[in-house]
Formats: sequence, structure tokens, C-alpha cells
Amino acid sequence: MIYRDPKCVYVGNDGASANMISGILDGAGFPSQVMNEATLGGFEGVTGWVPGFSQKGVEVWVIDPAHVEPAKQFIQAELESVEKERKKRASHTGTITAVCEDCGKSSEWPADTMGTTETCPNCGAYMDIPDPDDDWSGVDFGQDEEES
Ligand SMILES: [Zn+2]
Repeated sequence: MIYRDPKCVYVGNDGASANMISGILDGAGFPSQVMNEATLGGFEGVTGWVPGFSQKGVEVWVIDPAHVEPAKQFIQAELESVEKERKKRASHTGTITAVCEDCGKSSEWPADTMGTTETCPNCGAYMDIPDPDDDWSGVDFGQDEEES
């Protein structure tokens, strides 16, 4: 049986993800530290890790054993929201139609310009490309693909 310290709340695939989790935990009031040694096993429910596929990881420990459970729950929620955000962004494919406030003409923009300011191709004025995460009104996803 692999020894795993009970204070271990997360096993990152590499130092960078372990550091990220540790930073988030610190910010949330769960002081933590990244253990530098690569260890066996994983925190499968959180990392989506496949046992036997990759067996090394970098552990993140909380300093206070009382923080283990809340910290694990916090990481879980955090990862879920990151994943949700990632999927939401990834689903923004195709183009977005933005209407210029100056000339009233609409123009097509790639989805990755959402939330930025561009120049109207019709009159040259600056125009805001709407970000549907902020405001869904007036947004037309012509070629957006729904996940289902
Ligand atoms: Zn215009």
C-alpha cells in the first residue's frame, strides 16, 4: 500500500498544476505547500487520472490537518468551475454578429474577439464586440454548435 500523508489534498500532474492549486488554496485561507517529490498514486476523483496510465504526481498538502476536508471540497468545486468555464469558452465557435452603434450596420467577428473593441468595417468607428458571458442580448451565434 502506498503511503500517502492524510494532509495531501491534491495530486497535480506536474509541478505547475500543483503550484496553481496550492496558490488557490492559500488565497482561500487554506495554507498549503507543494511537496516536491513525485509520488505514486493520485487523487482520482479530482484529477481525472487513470491509474496505470500515469502514476506520478506532485502532492499538495495543507498545513492544518483540520483543513483537509474543506480544502478537498474547495479544490473540487474550483476544478469544476474551471472546467465549466473552459467548456463554455470552447463552445464559442464560429462567428459572432456585432452591431456598430455609429452606423447601425452589423458585421461578423470570430468568436475569440468577444469582449474586445474592434474597428467597424463599415464606418471605421470603434465598436464593442459583445461578450455573451456578460450579456446575451443581441448576440447571434450563427455557427455555434450546441453541446449535447
Ligand atoms: Zn460602423
